[in-house]
Amino acid sequence: MPSQDDLLARLAEVEPISRALEEDPGERRLLTDQVTELGHRILDGLSQRRVWDPCEGAAQELLEMGVPDEPQAIEGVLDLVAREIDGPGLRAAHGGHLGYIPGGGIYAGALGDYLAALTNRYAGVFYAGPGAVRLENMLLRWLCSLVGLPDGALGTLTSGGSIATLVAVTAARDGKGVRSAEVTRSVVYTTSQTHHCVAKALAIAGLAEAPCRQIPTDGRHRMHTPALEERIRADREAGLHPFLLVGTAGTTDAGAVDPLAELARIAEREELWLHVDAAYGGAFLLLDSMRPRLAGIERADSVVIDPHKGLFNPYGTGAVLVRDPAHLAASHHLRGVYLQDAQDAEDQPSPADLSPELTRHFRGLRMWLPLVLHGLERHRAALEEKRLLALLFHARAAELGFEVGPEPDLSVALFRWVPRDGSDPRAFNEGLLRTVLDDGRVFLSSTTIDGTYWLRVSLLCFRSHREHIEAVLEILAREVGARMEP
Ligand SMILES: *Cc1c(COP(=O)(O)O)cnc(C)c1O
Repeated sequence: MPSQDDLLARLAEVEPISRALEEDPGERRLLTDQVTELGHRILDGLSQRRVWDPCEGAAQELLEMGVPDEPQAIEGVLDLVAREIDGPGLRAAHGGHLGYIPGGGIYAGALGDYLAALTNRYAGVFYAGPGAVRLENMLLRWLCSLVGLPDGALGTLTSGGSIATLVAVTAARDGKGVRSAEVTRSVVYTTSQTHHCVAKALAIAGLAEAPCRQIPTDGRHRMHTPALEERIRADREAGLHPFLLVGTAGTTDAGAVDPLAELARIAEREELWLHVDAAYGGAFLLLDSMRPRLAGIERADSVVIDPHKGLFNPYGTGAVLVRDPAHLAASHHLRGVYLQDAQDAEDQPSPADLSPELTRHFRGLRMWLPLVLHGLERHRAALEEKRLLALLFHARAAELGFEVGPEPDLSVALFRWVPRDGSDPRAFNEGLLRTVLDDGRVFLSSTTIDGTYWLRVSLLCFRSHREHIEAVLEILAREVGARMEP
């Protein structure tokens, strides 16, 4: 044990260095100005840039800098961010991002993150962050009411749809009392279009050996419910225990919405847990015109919605909603004794009791700030615009002679060129995709459904407007026009 004199001497050495972690106010303002200056430069120039740049050589200097002992000047550091992080790869905040399911990057969300990070409010437990927890619970109740779940429904904000799905699958497992000895008899119903995060969640939740049925889909990539009923009957006859039905409100590949009301009817009759994956499609509940298509979702036991998709939040915001949150608490409520002070003070469920997380990002602020600063009307208009653009694209691609998928349920359109000379459609469409990516104004992706290679236009980024689909159509017209010549 060092003497107190030794302790004081060493303290006198380290304290001034340690204190420098807190910038003085002038320096702090300077740093902030430089960071926001870069932020504005990125956003002001975004629409002029390519949506996608090749990855070669990326992050060379970043890696060379490593994790230094000495402080680095902000100018050089921001330069690295601009060149090596914001440079290569997909600009997911760009309006030309029409691949996968686009995300957001709405500015007010970044400001919410800024405030969440600097206040460092603890959003895991009500006792520590009552305002933060109230805000998140309010947002979750708002999502529950949007879905049409009854009062008392609640859930938790997660890092995304995959973790939200894991929470839902865990609640379904425990809600339906599936014990480990019964896993191999406990049947799950999905389709080939179910997002792979469901299989991942089942495996993580100890249900990898549960029989998982892929129910056939109809011509619109929606679950074929007579086949579902038939399969449940056969499984029961075989002595199995059907327990979980997974419907999708907006499949990732085709944007298809399963017949949710039919699924709900079957789930209720068969006493299955109905989970609806609305990670992509959930935000369309904001549009009155789209609610009939999503009808039945209000009868689900659990629903996943990704605010980092249709609410345009920065990546890292998902939500799971559960009809009876007692199921969530049953699966997730465990506390360390060191949290004993926090037990009594609660008038609100704490996120830590309804999710696998304890200390967590205060996600509510980034989700809330865009909603209150812009209001719902602009969000509705943005979503309706994406849907109209998808319908317009679908019609115009058909006019150009492309084979198109079914009329979009939401805002994803499938298309492909079938060469008139009988040559391989896949090779031709892969080439077409490369041409689109090389052009740089828009980013598309492809998928394969039942062995058929499709190109997709997927509209969800709030910065995507008519000029982006016009750019796609212009390239398509040029390419097939050129290649239709003998
Ligand atoms: C995006 C998506 C997911 C996965 O969500 P992440 O937020 O990427 O983890 C699950 N299901 C559907 C239908 C999706 O579109």
